Amino acid sequence: MTTKENAGLDHDAIIVGAGFGGMGAGIELKKLGIDDLAILEREDDLGGTWHVNHYPGLAVDIASVTYSYSFEPNPYWSRLYAPGAELKKYAEHVADEYDLRRHMVFGVPVDRAEWDDDGQFWTVHTTDGASRTARYLLTATGFLSQPYTPDFEGIDTFEGKIIHTTAWEDGYDFTGKRAAVIGTGATAVQLVPEIAKQAGELTVFQRTPIWVVPKIDFAIPQPVQELFAKVPLTQKAARLVNTSILEAIMVAGVLHYKQAKIGNKGAALLAKAHLRRQVRDKKTRKALTPAYDFGCKRPTFSNSYFTVFNKPNVNLETSSIVRFTPDGIVTADGRTTPIDTLVLATGFNLWDVNFPAFQIIGRDGRDLGRWWREGRFQAYEGITVPKFPNFLTLNSPYSYSGLSYFTTIEGQMRHIGRLFGEMALEDKGTFEVTEEANQRFLDRATDNLQSSVFYAGDCSGSRSYYFNQHGEATLLRPNATLPTLHEMGTFPLSDYEFRKTPAVEPVNAP
Ligand code: NAP
Repeated sequence: MTTKENAGLDHDAIIVGAGFGGMGAGIELKKLGIDDLAILEREDDLGGTWHVNHYPGLAVDIASVTYSYSFEPNPYWSRLYAPGAELKKYAEHVADEYDLRRHMVFGVPVDRAEWDDDGQFWTVHTTDGASRTARYLLTATGFLSQPYTPDFEGIDTFEGKIIHTTAWEDGYDFTGKRAAVIGTGATAVQLVPEIAKQAGELTVFQRTPIWVVPKIDFAIPQPVQELFAKVPLTQKAARLVNTSILEAIMVAGVLHYKQAKIGNKGAALLAKAHLRRQVRDKKTRKALTPAYDFGCKRPTFSNSYFTVFNKPNVNLETSSIVRFTPDGIVTADGRTTPIDTLVLATGFNLWDVNFPAFQIIGRDGRDLGRWWREGRFQAYEGITVPKFPNFLTLNSPYSYSGLSYFTTIEGQMRHIGRLFGEMALEDKGTFEVTEEANQRFLDRATDNLQSSVFYAGDCSGSRSYYFNQHGEATLLRPNATLPTLHEMGTFPLSDYEFRKTPAVEPVNAP
């Protein structure tokens, strides 16, 4: 049932996305007594990226003690870096534990939402032609959720098998196949060693090399898991140590590159030494060495990626792809690589189609996607936008904080808690961030970024998705995590304008 203030609407709140971000928001809203939620999900199950991605080799790249909700630790992670399937199970556990499943509706892609300023509510349209109303709209549609397939000439004439890493066919057998992988991002780094174990021949098409550092990973012994379960403080301590190391890497190596290049340069040296130890051929090593600074692009961790290129059945192709034929790929040097299976590890489109993931129309007809693209990408504290009342955009410019996505989620939960707590106290139902507060946040973020590796380092040629189409690095929030978390729970309430909401006539009123 909707709260009495929202009688006449379908729901108190609609959350779009049933991944960890959407579930975190759901947990927070329920804690605040906002219990009529609809969590609309495009996929057929919960878990977001951990439901969609299930390619071989998938695992987290932030240690699991940190890559989880701090308030819902899982003592039973099997490894320091848990495999993807455990994350999916963990998401299911959280949904049950916090009674979120009954709010979830699957297989309903949202294609549009618009704000009604008279009634002060959102109408959310789904691709099946239906619509729902709610006082609040929260989008938790992920950063990396719109798969990208380059428009290669002739790809439609290719007669072999094509698999995008986000639509993996479990059990697909590469034995004896002439396989190609296009892309050398974090996904390929995990997947390529697995394909190389099976394929007759494997060609990896690399456009831009990636920094790869060693991965210190091991199975967590059962006695340690039991200790974590019996004495949760021990797991908290492990989390604190790991999170602090990550934070130091991010603050020194990425955000304060200008002042402390040494950490960043040290990481690059470590990656180069790793490559030297693992790859025998000098020419291959050179081809695998990035020409941009460490941190311009998300670096990866692997002990098995580089060694693949020593195998006789694996070839690294650096000549650019010109076109496809029915049975191969033609490169700029005029050669054709014959293949029967093509794996697209080509990543995601963020800035053209994912910010936001569907059309959102706010007050005075402001179209969020158009406004961001034609102006600058921006969101106050990475969560609210002027002229979009009662709207929280959880995957937005400057929202990604710290190296673990759970830091971002928990910071946003704090923000939601403070905002809705204030509205309850003041008996208000509508909030909107002021233009002045938004501008102040944007100016500060822009200013802080000047010291980061993105602007003070050399990122030219990195082709990093941290940069948008205007050349601005607007994904990461350029602040240390602790001040960010503090700010998310203490931001000035005067940064918002609050209104009392009018009663909405129930749709079925006589
Ligand atoms: P990505 O980092 O965007 O990499 C896409 C790759 O495809 C790049 O190497 C790119 O080359 C290549 N590519 C795209 N278009 C191409 C074209 N037309 N011709 C040739 N090559 C092309 O995507 P991703 O590897 O899926 O990783 C995305 C992010 O997902 C990661 O950064 C990470 O944050 C996350 N991720 C996390 C995990 C984990 O936690 N375990 C695992 C996988 C992914 P260019 O670099 O030249 O553009």
